[in-house]
Amino acid sequence: MPDFKALLATKTQSGQSLAWQQLGVTDLMEGDVTLAVSHTTINYKDGLALTGKAPVIRRWPMIPGIDFAGRVVGSTNAEFKPGDEVLLTGWGVGETHYGGYAGMARLKGDWLLLRPSELGAAEAMAIGTAGLTAMLAVLALERHGLSPAKGPVIVTGAAGGVGGVAIILLAGLGYQVIASTGRLQEADYLRGLGAAEVIDRAQLAAPARPLGKERWAGGIDAVGSHTLANLLSMTQYGGTIAACGLAQGMDLATSVAPFILRGVNLAGIDSVMAPKALRREAWARLAQDLDKGKLKAITTSRPLEEVIALAPEILAGNVRGRVVLDVQ
Ligand code: NDP
Repeated sequence: MPDFKALLATKTQSGQSLAWQQLGVTDLMEGDVTLAVSHTTINYKDGLALTGKAPVIRRWPMIPGIDFAGRVVGSTNAEFKPGDEVLLTGWGVGETHYGGYAGMARLKGDWLLLRPSELGAAEAMAIGTAGLTAMLAVLALERHGLSPAKGPVIVTGAAGGVGGVAIILLAGLGYQVIASTGRLQEADYLRGLGAAEVIDRAQLAAPARPLGKERWAGGIDAVGSHTLANLLSMTQYGGTIAACGLAQGMDLATSVAPFILRGVNLAGIDSVMAPKALRREAWARLAQDLDKGKLKAITTSRPLEEVIALAPEILAGNVRGRVVLDVQ
C-alpha cells in the first residue's frame, strides 16, 4: 500500500510539537480493520489536543483526530469487508490510538460503524462527534419525557458545532428553540437554523441563584460552569437539561434546589464511550431527522493541512458551526 501523509504529535521537554510526516501502513497501530481516510473534522476536543491546552493525548507519539470517515481496504473482522464505507467517532481514537489526521488508519472494527447510506462521507464528518453528541442529548431529553408541547428548549454554545446541530435537530422536531450565544452578530444565522429566539450568553454567565424564573422545559448545554447552573435554576418543573460540554468551564456551582424543589433532571452526555447500540440509534436518527440543507449551512470545508491553524481558533470560539477536513 502507498505511503500516506499523517500529522504526528510528539512530546517535547517544553510540551508537544506537531509535524506532517510520510508514513507507511506498517507504522499504524494494531487493529483488525485498515481503511483509507477520506474526511475528518475538528471538534473542540481536537483543538485541546492540537494545542496541548488539556491532556487529551495520552500516548506519544500520536496522530490526533477523534473522528473520521473512510473506506475499508483490509479486514479480518467478520463485520467489515474491503469497500465498506465506515465512520469512526471517539473510543479514545486520537487520544490513545492513532486518529483521523492521516491518509490511513487501522483500529478495532468494534469501534467502527457502517456509514448510513443516506449520508455521504463529508456529511458524516459535518456531523462528527459534535453532531453525534447533539443527537445523544436529544435522545436523552426524549427519554426524560420532553416533547415540544412541554415548552421551549435552550441550546448554549449555539454558534458552535454541538449547538448548531442541536438547534437544527430540535427545531426540526418542532421545539421552540432559544439559542444562547456570545456572537449576537450570528443571530440571523441561528434563526436560519431554526432558533425562535436568540439571547446573549452573558445573561447566563454569572453565578446562579438556587432558583430563577422558569424559562424552559429543557435544554442542551455545551458550556458547563455557571451557564449550566443557570440553566438548571431556570428549568420548568420536571424538565431536563442534557449536559455535554465545558466551553465556559468544568466547574459546576449549583444547589440541590432545582432537583428537590422542581424535580429537574440533569442528564449527562458522553459520546466517547457511548455503547454501540446507542450510537447506531443516534446515527439512524441523524440520517432520518437532520435537515441536510441546514447541515450544509453550518459546514465549512477545508483541506486537512489547515487543521493546525484552526485549533486555536476553535478554542477561542471563532469557528462557526462545523468544519469538514478533506484528507485526500
Ligand atoms: P465549538 O467550539 O464548536 O463550540 C463551543 C461554543 O461554546 C462556542 O462556539 C461558543 O458559542 C461557546 N463558548 C466558547 N467559549 C465560551 C465561554 N467562555 N463561555 C460561554 N460559551 C462559550 O465546540 P463543540 O461544539 O465541538 O463542543 C462544545 C462543547 O461540548 C465543548 O466543551 C466540548 O468539549 C464538548 N463536547 C463534549 C462531548 C461529549 O461527549 N460530552 C462531545 C463533543 C463536544 P457562542 O459563540 O455561540 O457563544
